Amino acid sequence: MSEFFWSNNAINYAALAIPAFFLFLGLEYVAAIRQRKTHVFNFDSSVANISIGIAERLLNLFLTASFYGVFTYIYEHFALWAIPNTWGVWVMLILVTDLVWYWYHRLGHEINLFWAAHIVHHHSEEFNYSVSARITTLQSIVRNVFWSVLPLVGFHPAMVMTILVVHGTYSFFTHTQLIRSLGWLEHILITPSHHRVHHASNEKYLNKNYGDLFVFWDKLFGTFQKEEEQPVYGLTHPLKSYSFIWQHFHYFLELLYATRQVSGIGNKLKIVFGPPEMLDQNIRPLLEKRFIPDRRETNALVRFKVYLVIQLGLALVVLFFITLFYQQTQPLEKVVGTLFILITLVNCGALLEQRRWIYYLEYLRLLVVVTYASYIIERPELLAGVLVVSLAMLWPMQKWYLRLVYGQG
Ligand SMILES: [Zn+2]
Ligand SMILES: [Zn+2]
Repeated sequence: MSEFFWSNNAINYAALAIPAFFLFLGLEYVAAIRQRKTHVFNFDSSVANISIGIAERLLNLFLTASFYGVFTYIYEHFALWAIPNTWGVWVMLILVTDLVWYWYHRLGHEINLFWAAHIVHHHSEEFNYSVSARITTLQSIVRNVFWSVLPLVGFHPAMVMTILVVHGTYSFFTHTQLIRSLGWLEHILITPSHHRVHHASNEKYLNKNYGDLFVFWDKLFGTFQKEEEQPVYGLTHPLKSYSFIWQHFHYFLELLYATRQVSGIGNKLKIVFGPPEMLDQNIRPLLEKRFIPDRRETNALVRFKVYLVIQLGLALVVLFFITLFYQQTQPLEKVVGTLFILITLVNCGALLEQRRWIYYLEYLRLLVVVTYASYIIERPELLAGVLVVSLAMLWPMQKWYLRLVYGQG
């Protein structure tokens, strides 16, 4: 069930999306230097974007197989029509997929529960290819529920999976400020210009351009807006945090808090399924004070940036190999790899906020790695040794470590 047509038992070619992503991101950066527009990149923000993308790609490995199973089940038991595999059907499928996307995306902006998952895509105040990675696993789940309409209509799950790869890849290319206009294509496709409008918080750009591939759905349903004034990217009320966990869950917490303020199930449901504009804007600062106090400003030290890049690089290497050899990877390796990556991502977010507790998180990661290593080489004394040494060094090392990373103890 989990074996797809684009992968065989040896290699999962989906892994190649990772180097391809960085190749295009690198090309965009080179083009930005040539056009003297390096301001479209911001180091901290790019690290945050890529961190979120890594988590989604990782957890999506487990999700994709499950949803392929769900799509197949729906197709075999509930398909409304038996749609054949002809070229005309592929055209129809891409149109239907894009229409489903339009409504999935629009509802993602109009209903609080869905916005809680989609908001993460809009946190970024920069706009470049790295922003396309800001998709969370929670959003993937919501999206796959919407995609279930496709096998229900009668499209074969294998066709659906193929078209979703094409559809998902296209949206990467609309996240750039370097392409001004695509001429006549502006009337047919969602172009970088149209998608810049979607990511902007200017009054006239709010809740516009939901399409992914074709622009005519927005024109048909009255949500189209041409790019006129310079877009200001990000949320109307920006999120002032790079915390990996906070970025993922802050809006769910805001919703929880808001539902607790009202009585009666009807009023609570009105909040959960109501529009984001109606949610009390004072809740977020209140929760920020409670859960993410005293965030320090970013660190400009070169060694701090190098340290961060190494962490992200390690997470990417582990992700690449788990993806590439997903079929052969044993459950234990999957669990250890996932733990390693997730701890590293939480670490990266905490580093961006200069949190001192990352020191303990580093210990946790070390423990995971050493436990796994001593299991593999069947040397439990290795684990015991590292445990003793690290416990003895815990306090003396802390000041040295924090000074090394942040430049202050
Ligand atoms: Zn959106
Ligand atoms: Zn986007």
